[in-house]
Amino acid sequence: MSEINQERLIDRFMELTRIDSPSFRERDMADYLKRELERLAVVIHEDDSAARIGGNSGNLYGVLPAKGGRDRKEAAPLLFLAHMDTVEPACERKATLYDDGKIMSDGTTVLGADDQAAIAVLLEVIQELQEEGAEHPELEFLFSAAEEAYTVGLSAMDLSVFKAKEAFALDLSDKTGGYSIQEPTLLSFTVQVHGVAAHAGFEPERGISALTAAARAITRIPQGRINDHSTFNIGIVEAGTGTNIIPELAVVRGELRSTDHEEALRMYEDAVAVFREEAEKMGATMTAEKTLHLHAYHVDEDDPALKRYKHAAEKLGIETFPVATFGGSDVNVMRRNGIAGLCISGAMHKVHTTEEYTTVQELTEAAQIVRELMTE
Ligand SMILES: [Zn+2]
Repeated sequence: MSEINQERLIDRFMELTRIDSPSFRERDMADYLKRELERLAVVIHEDDSAARIGGNSGNLYGVLPAKGGRDRKEAAPLLFLAHMDTVEPACERKATLYDDGKIMSDGTTVLGADDQAAIAVLLEVIQELQEEGAEHPELEFLFSAAEEAYTVGLSAMDLSVFKAKEAFALDLSDKTGGYSIQEPTLLSFTVQVHGVAAHAGFEPERGISALTAAARAITRIPQGRINDHSTFNIGIVEAGTGTNIIPELAVVRGELRSTDHEEALRMYEDAVAVFREEAEKMGATMTAEKTLHLHAYHVDEDDPALKRYKHAAEKLGIETFPVATFGGSDVNVMRRNGIAGLCISGAMHKVHTTEEYTTVQELTEAAQIVRELMTE
């Protein structure tokens, strides 16, 4: 096995941190990737989802034809994915490589290792395969838009363009060797309570406060960590138009997560029932709607992608370990579409904070694992 070109990998990562790519504004990153991948002989396309999701970039996908003998050409294709977007504060990042191998931003933005560490790793490994003429099966690539916004980019994509039945996403925030064994069902909801507006001083008897009804419901609904596999949060309440007006409308938004899909749906229905009850008690009305962002999945021991990952790590002497995440990733969309996706450690820590960091060693290890997955 040949060595990873560590210097070039780090240079690539640093270069990526200079490209602003917040969710829905990934255009510069998409153009950069198109240019770089074409240079690496990866045929790259952009889907038409940009307009549908309200962004300036669609999802990029590409293919690198198999290289080698018949066994390589007939081997099942593999898909590797990374998301192009980073969370806010995402722009004008200034990354520094420290003597101990840590790479961090200047503390005013995220670093964006989530998920640009993965992009750097993929580009470096593709380049190495090319330079060395290494054998590999057909490789497919996906660089998604707006993953951080509940995976809307990939959710808007037609996944039938992919032939692979196994996919690997370097999008797990943990030390080298981790893999996600589950993701939760995640749904967000909006409840609107409709009351009756009236002047608060002249004729308060005529009014029905939508805000009071909503507040009564909110205090009755269990929130926070509900049990070891479910959470519930009301995050936004908007109501009222003036201090002298009884609020006619209250809009309540929240989200809930559960690794048990049925339980997630039940929690939602239970919450809606409480809002309905409290609204009716006061003579108000209500409507509710939910959006299902993620559908819970569990990875079995005999999952093909997991087996391949364990095998690759073992060859490199890297210990693997399961991680039960409570967030979602593009893998969730893959699994829903019949592709055995696996979310694996992607050289990132403290993601979604301005203390986010990666390390030279972990970037290198991630590249080694990807290379092994592609060529084993
Ligand atoms: Zn991510």
